Amino acid sequence: MSSNVALNYVNDVYHTVKKRNPNEKEFQQAVKEILDSLVPVFEKNPSYIDHAILERMVEPERIISFRIPWVDDQGDIHVNRGFRVQFNSAIGPYKGGLRFHPSVNASIIKFLGFEQIFKNSLTGQPIGAGKGGADFDPKGKSDNEIMRFCQSFMSELAKHIGPDTDVPAGDIGVGAREIGYLFGQYKKMQGSFQAGVLTGKAFEFGGSLARKEATGYGTVYFVQEMLKGNNDDLNGKTVVVSGSGNVAIYAIEKATELGAKVVACSDYNGYIYDKDGIKLDTVKRLKEVERKRIKEYLTEHPNAQYSEKSEEIWTIPCDIALPCATQNELDKDAANHLIKNGVIAIGEGANMPCTTEAVDLFIEKAILFGPGKAANAGGVAVSALEMAQNSAHLSWKFEEVDEKLQDIMKDIYRNSVEAAEEHGKSGNLVVGANIAGFLKVADAMIAQGVI
Ligand code: NDP
Repeated sequence: MSSNVALNYVNDVYHTVKKRNPNEKEFQQAVKEILDSLVPVFEKNPSYIDHAILERMVEPERIISFRIPWVDDQGDIHVNRGFRVQFNSAIGPYKGGLRFHPSVNASIIKFLGFEQIFKNSLTGQPIGAGKGGADFDPKGKSDNEIMRFCQSFMSELAKHIGPDTDVPAGDIGVGAREIGYLFGQYKKMQGSFQAGVLTGKAFEFGGSLARKEATGYGTVYFVQEMLKGNNDDLNGKTVVVSGSGNVAIYAIEKATELGAKVVACSDYNGYIYDKDGIKLDTVKRLKEVERKRIKEYLTEHPNAQYSEKSEEIWTIPCDIALPCATQNELDKDAANHLIKNGVIAIGEGANMPCTTEAVDLFIEKAILFGPGKAANAGGVAVSALEMAQNSAHLSWKFEEVDEKLQDIMKDIYRNSVEAAEEHGKSGNLVVGANIAGFLKVADAMIAQGVI
């Protein structure tokens, strides 16, 4: 087939997506990035076009949007908007996190849900794709307010999820505390203990050891594999990590354990730079326990520096950059700074943290680039392992889960490298990860007929 036919097909589908989903720029961006990288698949195997595979994949199986009324500590009533996008169930129950953040809207949830299709497939685990959340801001809320909000959210969501239907987990603003409240409400409503309905639970009621660490550790394992491919490793490398939440904290922990020095991390308000290496105990206490701002790091470590411009974190010279905060946080200017300062590898701990222009620049300059749906897939992979433990009513040791995680990250890397090579895009892990993730889901959809 001529490359024109494949290209025209991809472009036609993309234009329909744009028309059908106007003003959803994040969703359009995610679709464009993936569709463009699939052109070599349709050149090699045009029968996918006859099956209208992309037209079916870009349309979520179901979108649920709902009202979340809740009462604050002063007795005032608030109303937020909740979402669950059940995107694709070809290879397993819908699976993907819940995000509580004021920026949440249909576009954000659909971009995350769409990416999840390919990410979940890449893990090799039997999980479909979903994503959800609410435009609720947990910052500054009391524990009781968080609990009441989670209960109201679950009162509606419970109608649409279940251990074999849809299994949510955490994401930005949803950690162990929120998962606990959500699970409690689900259990009360069902009148039965169905551990497999949510992942990211505390160990005491069915959580998996190493789930909390999995996304951050997995991102670093993935970077380790990229470096290994270049006969290099993390030892002695200088690393910059954005964010200071779940993914960032455990990326810092693993990178440090493997001999790197992490010199900076951030939150929404600013970043800290500690040339002697970030003291992770302080960050963990500030963020996981006291829920304070990263600026407070200076109180204990006055030699560190603080800047209120969190986006300028990428001007700090480093060998490895791990964007672990949020979407589109690393743009073309930031990429240029990193390249000028000699960066050798990027691992996306967050979902779509690099803009399309930044990604193109990294690929053009042959910088090792681990795209989010491959590099941060460790979190959802261990969520699938949590589901497996729940259905078998047992729990594995930390080391056992961590070992499985390492194997999964190595497989994702290898499959992405091979898929890129087989489709004439050697070394391009963006293309490789998208193609490897796509093939399994596409073949499953075709095998199951037009439904
Ligand atoms: P958290 O809520 O635990 O942490 C997010 C962190 O990013 C916070 O420190 C937050 O700061 C910071 N942040 C948010 N916006 C900005 C910004 N514009 N500039 C600098 N820092 C910012 O979320 P997670 O760590 O769970 O998630 C981070 C990313 O990783 C998201 O893209 C998520 O989708 C992705 N991801 C998460 C997985 C998981 O298992 N948790 C799995 C796979 C991907 P502040 O404290 O000020 O809010």
